[in-house]
Amino acid sequence: MHITMVGAGYVGLVSGACFSDFGHYVVCVDKDEKKIAALNKGEIPIHEPGLSDLVARNVAQGRLAFVTDLKGAVSRSEVVFIAVGTPSRRGDGHADLSHVYAAAREIAASLPESAVVVTKSTVPVGTGDEVERIIREEKKDAKFAVVSNPEFLREGAAIQDFKHPDRIVIGTEDAFAKEVMAEVYRPLHLNASPILYTSRRTAELTKYAANSFLATKITFINEIADLAEKVGANVQEVARGIGLDNRIGSKFLHAGPGFGGSCFPKDTLALIKTGQDHEAPLRIVETVVAVNDQRKRAMARKVANAFGGNIRGKTIAVLGITFKPNTDDMRDAPSIPLITALQDLGAAIRVFDPIGMEQAKKVFENVTFCRDAYDCARGSHAIVIVTEWEQFRALDLKKMATIMAAPVIVDLRNVYSPEDVTRNGFHYCGVGRPKPLAY
Ligand code: NAD
Repeated sequence: MHITMVGAGYVGLVSGACFSDFGHYVVCVDKDEKKIAALNKGEIPIHEPGLSDLVARNVAQGRLAFVTDLKGAVSRSEVVFIAVGTPSRRGDGHADLSHVYAAAREIAASLPESAVVVTKSTVPVGTGDEVERIIREEKKDAKFAVVSNPEFLREGAAIQDFKHPDRIVIGTEDAFAKEVMAEVYRPLHLNASPILYTSRRTAELTKYAANSFLATKITFINEIADLAEKVGANVQEVARGIGLDNRIGSKFLHAGPGFGGSCFPKDTLALIKTGQDHEAPLRIVETVVAVNDQRKRAMARKVANAFGGNIRGKTIAVLGITFKPNTDDMRDAPSIPLITALQDLGAAIRVFDPIGMEQAKKVFENVTFCRDAYDCARGSHAIVIVTEWEQFRALDLKKMATIMAAPVIVDLRNVYSPEDVTRNGFHYCGVGRPKPLAY
């Protein structure tokens, strides 16, 4: 099939590359000329494991191309995906749909007489109706359908997720569109990935419900962690104890510094707004957002508490600043409010991240960017592990202790055993776990 992917960001680029790997002919369109020029030189603008090889292979085989000319690409396509950003609208937290509607207008102008337009961006209920209205205004007699096909991939494991999804949700009641979408996803269907056909509005709501539920799970275990600290229990064992229950499941039960990233913060807010607009308030999600917001600064207080509440004049080494490992994405990363709060408390900040340093330089001011974890720890009074990159799981603690100004580890991802760390002479502070007795 001939597919146009409008938007070559995390989702558009991964989806486009994977569709071409299935054997479809894909043109990824982006209005960012620099991004397209880089892609045409074989440079991948994001860090995503396996993506570089996947793109190179499919470009070489003539099935994947990158252009800025939307009209030319759309006019030759049977299916046009919209994968542009839907950030929070400034001021009110609704999803900002300006990119989606702008893309819809451009697509309408050159859509062939028979085509399927698919919204892959995360969009609030009813957006598909508006996209359809925009296209119909331009193409009065065309045979087209607008489908919702939300994307569930995770950054850092995006290709694996795209090629082996837990499910594919396709929101349309149009028979022709169903046939076309079945063909688009045929290789996955053969792999026995479940395909769920729903109404368009149901598909749109499913994506927000999924992300909000996962954000709720994280926030729930974070609050249990706070209680565990107070009552001398171990949140990791509680998580295992409840996660082994099939009705609950073990994923997204890792206590930490609060959720962040390119999706959960904006999607929980947008769902709250949709609920309020329809007089069906989502009070649980409202609470999740409020609890999670407070947690970021609370993590800075946790660091200060390791020093009796005062870190003025102390140097803090922050390890990991992307919102999770295996990505360079800094959007709404928990490290951002945490570092600001530590600076507000008077600490000097050193940072290191294996992949995110370029992004970090655009975000942080008045911090020292370091070469590696040891360079970061040198002269610091505490290491704070914010993102659980693999390379932070086996630090040479003996070496660390000799180069630091004070041996303190605040492990916001619980990657270390408190006993091991304490045995190496460190003061250890994790999340929701009892303090080791030895120190
Ligand atoms: P992104 O910001 O990385 O990429 C969006 C791209 O669209 C940008 O390159 C931008 O230049 C381009 N663009 C915007 N308007 C355009 C237009 N009119 N024509 C051509 N290109 C245009 O965003 P993303 O992270 O890929 O997210 C895209 C959507 O997918 C969002 O709705 C997001 O919520 C959703 N989503 C993201 C993820 C994720 O992990 N990032 C996962 C699932 C769903």
